[in-house]
Amino acid sequence: MALHHKRHTISHSAVDDPYASAEMESELPRFIMPDDESDPRTTYDAVLDELMLDGNARQNLATFCTTWMEPEVQKLMAESVNKNMIDKDEYPQSAEIEQRCVDILAALWNSPEASSTVGCSTTGSSEAAMLGGMALKWRWREKRRAKGKSVDRPNLVTGPVQICWHKFCRYWDIEIREIPMEGGRLIMTPQEVLERCDENTIGVVPTLGVTFTGQYEPVKAVSNALDRLQAESGLDIPIHVDAASGGFLAPFVLPDLEWDFRLPRVKSINASGHKFGMAPLGVGWALWRTKEDLPEDLIFNVNYLGGNMPTFALNFSRPAGEIISQYYLFLRLGRKGYRKIQQELYDTAQFLAKEIVKMGPFEMIHNGNEEGIPAISWKLKSDADVTFSLFDLADALRTRGWLVPAYSMPPERTDLVVQRILIRHGFSHDMARLLLVDIARMLDRFHRHPVSMNLTEAEAGGHNHNGK
Ligand SMILES: *Cc1c(COP(=O)(O)O)cnc(C)c1O
Repeated sequence: MALHHKRHTISHSAVDDPYASAEMESELPRFIMPDDESDPRTTYDAVLDELMLDGNARQNLATFCTTWMEPEVQKLMAESVNKNMIDKDEYPQSAEIEQRCVDILAALWNSPEASSTVGCSTTGSSEAAMLGGMALKWRWREKRRAKGKSVDRPNLVTGPVQICWHKFCRYWDIEIREIPMEGGRLIMTPQEVLERCDENTIGVVPTLGVTFTGQYEPVKAVSNALDRLQAESGLDIPIHVDAASGGFLAPFVLPDLEWDFRLPRVKSINASGHKFGMAPLGVGWALWRTKEDLPEDLIFNVNYLGGNMPTFALNFSRPAGEIISQYYLFLRLGRKGYRKIQQELYDTAQFLAKEIVKMGPFEMIHNGNEEGIPAISWKLKSDADVTFSLFDLADALRTRGWLVPAYSMPPERTDLVVQRILIRHGFSHDMARLLLVDIARMLDRFHRHPVSMNLTEAEAGGHNHNGK
């Protein structure tokens, strides 16, 4: 007897193997919601399978964000999945935990009034930057109005900033005076800052860990320059530090670097808890030096959830789990734990930088030293005799699952193509070794099979993946 059966004779039942079930017989609906319900387990399998195409987050060396977590963090996330951070009256302990995190960070960043200053959690540094920027604008406007001066042409002076500052300036009608890169200078200098400051400058934003290269901008030197400007002209221009990455690095591995509230001119700071704070995705922090540095009329009081709760945020509802996890990490790791992990990241970054330079055609821009973030960025040597571009190398490494982005720099240096690796918690020395073997393998392949030459600027511009 033939063992094959006719397709239409298959009948489905609740005990089917997921891959022999009715749901898996056809592709998943894409455009229209199905009429009927389907089996949860099978549907879960089908959705999870689609996610395989995302690749492996741990091999994504482009992102700054947390991709490895302890099981305890995963549990806390699952256990708090139904808590809404905005319902401070319903979830008072989550609110208390948020406040403890603010106090801990205020002390870490040397606020002179650490236990009484103001700050809040946000969804990330982008929202935190928006809040910090708004406070600058409000403060500036208050001072101008008090003197009877015009308030219609505010500007903000920055180095090469992350896109959130472009958004802030566009949304709030502020002229951005972004210091362009010039030659080998890829960050702000005090002189470049001073040349752009005037009575309409609401603030200066140095970045602690520039997105493009990983370098720290010189906050103290800029602050000193602004002190001199004030002595000469009376202009008192505040600083907001975008410490998205550096806010969780410098305090541990470079404690003597004065970039924070130790400098009286630094009025506010933002950082991403979900970057080197090591919390799961979805938390940032905005803190002000003292209560007086956050204008009162930016704070809304909400009473319809019961109680009277001050809030300063763009979002309303958002999950509490990331904040609870952040607090867990502060307790779990302590300053020593953070220092140990971060130092390990720097060591791995510096090891990778050395080995990549040894390969020949590459020149480091940031070699993962402690005066920047644990990342490395490099370019092709101008005299490199190669038959590939960094974009080709990025594509080749993808075949092994590594995401090592190549991108062109912002205006004035769009000719410069850079490749960057972020070393994050969970990227071990052994993985670094595996990556090096793959890079060497790709170089050897390019040597035997030349790929592309002379990428035009337009082509390079199409590969801009730097906003991570
Ligand atoms: C990542 C980053 C941001 C944006 O932060 P999110 O937490 O992703 O919103 C802003 N500025 C800098 C310097 C960054 O590195």
